[in-house]
Amino acid sequence: MSKTQEIISVKNLVKKYDNFTAVNGIDFKVSKGEIFGLLGPNGAGKTTTVEILEGLRKPSSGYTEIDGIDVAKNTKEVKKIIGVQLQECSFFDKLNLFEIVEMFSVFYSSKPNIEKILDNVGLLEKRKSYYKTLSGGQKQRLSIAVALVNDPKVLFLDEPTTGLDPQARRNMWDLIAEIRNKGKTIIITTHYMEEAEKLCDRVAIIDSGRIVKIDTPKKLIRELIDSGFKVEKKSQDATLEDVFINLTGKSLREK
Ligand code: ADP
Repeated sequence: MSKTQEIISVKNLVKKYDNFTAVNGIDFKVSKGEIFGLLGPNGAGKTTTVEILEGLRKPSSGYTEIDGIDVAKNTKEVKKIIGVQLQECSFFDKLNLFEIVEMFSVFYSSKPNIEKILDNVGLLEKRKSYYKTLSGGQKQRLSIAVALVNDPKVLFLDEPTTGLDPQARRNMWDLIAEIRNKGKTIIITTHYMEEAEKLCDRVAIIDSGRIVKIDTPKKLIRELIDSGFKVEKKSQDATLEDVFINLTGKSLREK
């Protein structure tokens, strides 16, 4: 085995809602410092799996552990070492960005440096601005700032680039990679395969409550090609997204 240290372990996880089985025996491990993607069609069981790991739902059976802590038994302890990206909240409208991050930091005993957290996500200049004045990309970056207030070991990101324009999406990829480079482990769900391919060290492809494949994007693609798979059209050397970025530039548009 490699020397990588594992930080997340999921064993034979099952979740039933009445007699419907949403998660049907899932196993995976994530190493420290990995960006690990959960990919799958709607209804595959991604959210259920992630929310069990976050301590928000109880599994029907199976075991989940983060940094040596049994999630189901010691949910409070786990919450101290994880960060969860929240989707929009309506009360954000009444506060400026500094106050929003400050409010979330009150939940933790440590006193974070709020300006540094805002700086890390590129929002220091906006600290006095109100949420409603932010662009889509800035709102997503704020939600990451909020998830970082407790300096978590593991960060959970739920479709962090949905609805963003290509520039903001690339900027978010850079930010996520930077956060990982600072030593954090990241679990990400996404519907964008290009995003998973660029960002994730490994991905688990989930369908109907089971993991159908788990590996690095490169190896999964290699395996498909080796099995004789051929794309119908000759693949192009550039995509329409490349055209778009080439014509409009990489710089962020924040309105
Ligand atoms: P994904 O995140 O991959 O879209 P989910 O984990 O949200 O999948 O859902 C998996 C399946 O479980 C879906 O069929 C969904 O309808 C069902 N499901 C999710 N939450 C509940 C719930 N609270 N009660 C009943 N069924 C649920």
